[in-house]
Amino acid sequence: MNAPLPLLPFADPGAGYRALQGEIDAAVARALASGWYILGREGEAFEAEFAAWLGEGQHAVGCANGTDALMLILRGLGIGPGSTVVTVSHTAVATVAAIEMAGATPLLLDIEPGTYTMDPAELEAVLAAPPPGLPPIRAVIPVHLYGQAADLGRIAAACARAGVALIEDCAQCHGALWRGRKLGTFGAAAAFSLYPTKNLGALGDGGVLASADAALAARIGAIRQYGWRQRYVSDMVGVNSRLDEIQAAILRVKLRHLDAQNARRRAIAAAYDAALAGGGLTPPLRRPEAEHVFHLYVLRHPGREAIMARLKALGIGTGIHYPVPVHAQPAYAGRVALGPAACAETERAAREVFSLPMYPELTDAKVERVCAALRGL
Ligand SMILES: *Cc1c(COP(=O)(O)O)cnc(C)c1O
Repeated sequence: MNAPLPLLPFADPGAGYRALQGEIDAAVARALASGWYILGREGEAFEAEFAAWLGEGQHAVGCANGTDALMLILRGLGIGPGSTVVTVSHTAVATVAAIEMAGATPLLLDIEPGTYTMDPAELEAVLAAPPPGLPPIRAVIPVHLYGQAADLGRIAAACARAGVALIEDCAQCHGALWRGRKLGTFGAAAAFSLYPTKNLGALGDGGVLASADAALAARIGAIRQYGWRQRYVSDMVGVNSRLDEIQAAILRVKLRHLDAQNARRRAIAAAYDAALAGGGLTPPLRRPEAEHVFHLYVLRHPGREAIMARLKALGIGTGIHYPVPVHAQPAYAGRVALGPAACAETERAAREVFSLPMYPELTDAKVERVCAALRGL
């Protein structure tokens, strides 16, 4: 009898390190030898390189994680107590946690079932007729989920019409495009998580935010370190949310490989698509205006538990993003405001979605193992 194949994990951040080990080890050694460990030359270089990679005229500010990046943007815009911030419930809980960390009130909308991103029609409705009892809406945070843009055309237009700030949650979409332009360049500012499993991941915690508004970026740069513009002088009330030099040095290496790694993710997605053709599962929808970077490759089926169990028996790991919508989590249930759609599609997606292994270090042989399993479903 054949020994069972080892489980092909759903994610493998260690493989991301090993693939670039020589370059990363050299970068870490350089940061260690510098004798300067927080907000120094590596961090400044990473911010400049990330801003240049993102687009012309962008300014980047490194910080401790993606949740803080969102919170810092809100604080930088002066959005806090007395403001409502609109986002979705089908997201990492971080998006909503950041709104509450800033002191603002979250209002959670439903998603479009095909792309799992903010329903623009519901956004237009709540901006035209805000739900009673909430403070005024000051910002909208669409989440570009799984590596693909939310409907930026309608969402950006609705924000502009209503005079509210558009803040992009780009934690899952480093390098993705909307009409040929990188996500993270469409609103007042954008927040990127650099958590190890993200498309651009540190080997620890990290975050970066970007804006074309130099004054906003400078203000946020001060807020991330006690409101200092000058050492030991707090011009404004700030926090401590800094990116360390070792992570910045690692991220500079990873950034140089990001575009190639995103291309590899797209090639893996195309292989999965082909393996699913003619079967009972539909490949993820691609928006014609968008280029997807496949942070996750997500399928849906009402009987997902049986499918995930069969894949597991074949040695294929899967994940669920996300099994419980934010508004149904114990800390938020009955307490956060929902839009008029009451998150019905969100709740259906939470019951049906599952994610296949997706990371650039998956070898052709491993991709073929997944494909063979998919063809047999
Ligand atoms: C990962 C993630 C975050 C938070 O990032 P952290 O770095 O873990 O704080 C925020 N929003 C979304 C959509 C995410 O996937």
